[in-house]
Amino acid sequence: MTIKKILVLHTGGTISMHEDEDGDVETGVENPLTGAKMALPDVDLTVESIFNLPSEYIGPTHMLALQHRIVAAGNDFDGVVITHGTDTLEETSFFLDSTLSVDFPIVITGAMRSSNELGSDGLYNYQSALRVAADNNSRRRGVLIVMNDEIHAARFVTKTHTTNVATFGSPISGTMGLLTKRQIIYFYDLPKRRVLSVENVNKSIPVLKAYAGMDGQLLELLAASNIDGIVIEALGAGNLSREAANGVVYLLSRHIPVVIVSRSFNGVAEPVYDYLGGGVQLEKAGAIFATSINGQKARLKLLVGLDSQLNNEDLRDYLHQV
Ligand code: ASP
Repeated sequence: MTIKKILVLHTGGTISMHEDEDGDVETGVENPLTGAKMALPDVDLTVESIFNLPSEYIGPTHMLALQHRIVAAGNDFDGVVITHGTDTLEETSFFLDSTLSVDFPIVITGAMRSSNELGSDGLYNYQSALRVAADNNSRRRGVLIVMNDEIHAARFVTKTHTTNVATFGSPISGTMGLLTKRQIIYFYDLPKRRVLSVENVNKSIPVLKAYAGMDGQLLELLAASNIDGIVIEALGAGNLSREAANGVVYLLSRHIPVVIVSRSFNGVAEPVYDYLGGGVQLEKAGAIFATSINGQKARLKLLVGLDSQLNNEDLRDYLHQV
């Protein structure tokens, strides 16, 4: 039996929390995962508690620290497992996926029920993540999310439910793989992605959701502030009201990149309608369509693209790529 060396990086989240006597969930001083004995004969674990934070407190600076730790680990390990709060898990996963090109598997997991709750899913998901990270077939697949016996790709995964243990889903692409008692099964390979290195993550890029009757006032206010770009979760395939479209034109006239995604849960954003506010005219005005990602991921992708000094067509192609 080949023993796989796995680096485990705990960052906090419900998987590392416990319920108090009132039933409220909180972060403790000790991470209950640190001493967990995992029943896996073929893995040799190096465990580090890099943060102990609810994932709402995790931002791009923490993501970059994680990325640096993985780069520093270099080829000393056969795989990396990260435990993380589920609220921003998709963002950390996407950031690492967009900025790390490594052969070994990077697997992220979390839990919906804390460590001492009835039916806690933490240890089970942790063990599943270790199994996936130790599997040869998980190599060169980008960053993987393992929860509830399913494997998802960072690019397509999103949190779909506030409390259910079956919360992670990939609405556009479908589940990438499954864990059964004996097997790890992959259903498809991913399209190639462009990985960029990133040095600074301090750009200001708000995400705004479109709605019926949206006017351009907020967009004009934002144009006057110090933003580096903006992501708009537009209507349907990527459309806006006339007033909001005028706001977009104003932002673009100030050389502020505007990225369009859809506020719809499923499907891709692409220009279809040729009237003021329609996607075709937004694109002609200079807005960039990020095809298959949601607002929170498009924000990170724009941040990475801008930090890599991509401009005009290159930035457009990069964001447009699935
Ligand atoms: N609020 C928690 C967090 O993201 C939720 C979880 O981990 O499931 O840290």
